[in-house]
Amino acid sequence: MPALPYAARAAGLVGSVIDSSTSLLHKQTHDIVRFAMGSPAAEAVPAQILSAIAADELSRPSSYDYAATEGDPPLHAALLEMLRGTSDETTAERLTITAGGMQGLDLFCKIFVDPGDLVVVESPTYTNGSATALSYGAELLEVPVDDDGMIVDDLPRLLDGRRPKAIYTIPTFQNPSGATLSLERRHRLLELARSWGSMVIDDDPYGLLRFAGEPLPTLRELGAGDPLVFAVRTFSKIVAPGLRVGWVDADPELQQLLINAKQAMDTCTNLPAQRLLTGFLAGGHLEEHLVRQRAEYKLRKEAMRGALTEHFGEIAHWTDPEGGFFLWVTLENGVNAEELFELALAEGVAFIPGPAFSPTARFQNAFRLCFASTPPARIHEGITRLRRATDKLVP
Ligand code: PMP
Repeated sequence: MPALPYAARAAGLVGSVIDSSTSLLHKQTHDIVRFAMGSPAAEAVPAQILSAIAADELSRPSSYDYAATEGDPPLHAALLEMLRGTSDETTAERLTITAGGMQGLDLFCKIFVDPGDLVVVESPTYTNGSATALSYGAELLEVPVDDDGMIVDDLPRLLDGRRPKAIYTIPTFQNPSGATLSLERRHRLLELARSWGSMVIDDDPYGLLRFAGEPLPTLRELGAGDPLVFAVRTFSKIVAPGLRVGWVDADPELQQLLINAKQAMDTCTNLPAQRLLTGFLAGGHLEEHLVRQRAEYKLRKEAMRGALTEHFGEIAHWTDPEGGFFLWVTLENGVNAEELFELALAEGVAFIPGPAFSPTARFQNAFRLCFASTPPARIHEGITRLRRATDKLVP
């Protein structure tokens, strides 16, 4: 059989361990406490409100037409209104509606990343994002993260004289660590990026889900008007991921290129989903929804911290996020998280092993837990099961 004539870039399609674990879990039929996926709580999805909006908005044939590539005008308008007065307040010529945050990352790379370009990523990072850069031939440089986010001052040393094309950061309630980039580091990151002429990808899906502490200005706000800052946002975590709607906020000079790139990719973002979100925003539902979500996720994070203290106090440490979905656990007893994953699944609990969050499979002894999708009582049950699985590796 002759070999298929693959493009060179096909070698960069590395796939996502995060998504593959999710697919694996969908196939399991036994009772599993699911700390693996980064989905909003099922109870938090405003399905009743959305279906009432659907009955109205989606009864019109025009809701099934092609949409404007930059986004359906009513959603554009509702989004500008939603962002007014926030750290992400913006203008119409900066906004392009996308098929979720992932498409924002893809559009960025399509426009800015040539094969061999250096892209800085956090370590650990959201590897679906770094995989997008790899799919365009980028070379990645991993920069460690601590409780204050990316250790920005390590950058010059790790770069060793090279200039990155882009710096990819998830500054707020980072996926997977839950860490938030401090204000000082936000300023420093922008300063360094400017000195190198590097783009900054400000990927912030969780910022509106803060349940403790004081909000920080987004990189987009701190870099106001700076064409180097490219903000990627999504409704996936604040409303529902299956809608596949997000947006990018970028220099107006980029909008036509973004439109051209999207026209060569998917023409427009799903119109029925955009109409549902327009109804949700214009109906004034988002704020109340966020207030409820924040309160619930705070309870869930506290439940997870309590259960971890009870069952893992002497053998692990973990991060303490002030919002978002995830905390990051590091085992101190040499346990390998990928081995633990198999045993945990058999015990009826799932997480994502640490190596899934590094393009070079670092973090063998760590894992990500999503506290957001599981009610408190189940969280306790899940962490109890996890300790049972751990004890099978270290009696
Ligand atoms: N960036 C980060 C940091 C994420 O956590 C996610 C979703 N897990 C995305 C981007 C992708 O968002 P979407 O599902 O809207 O494509």
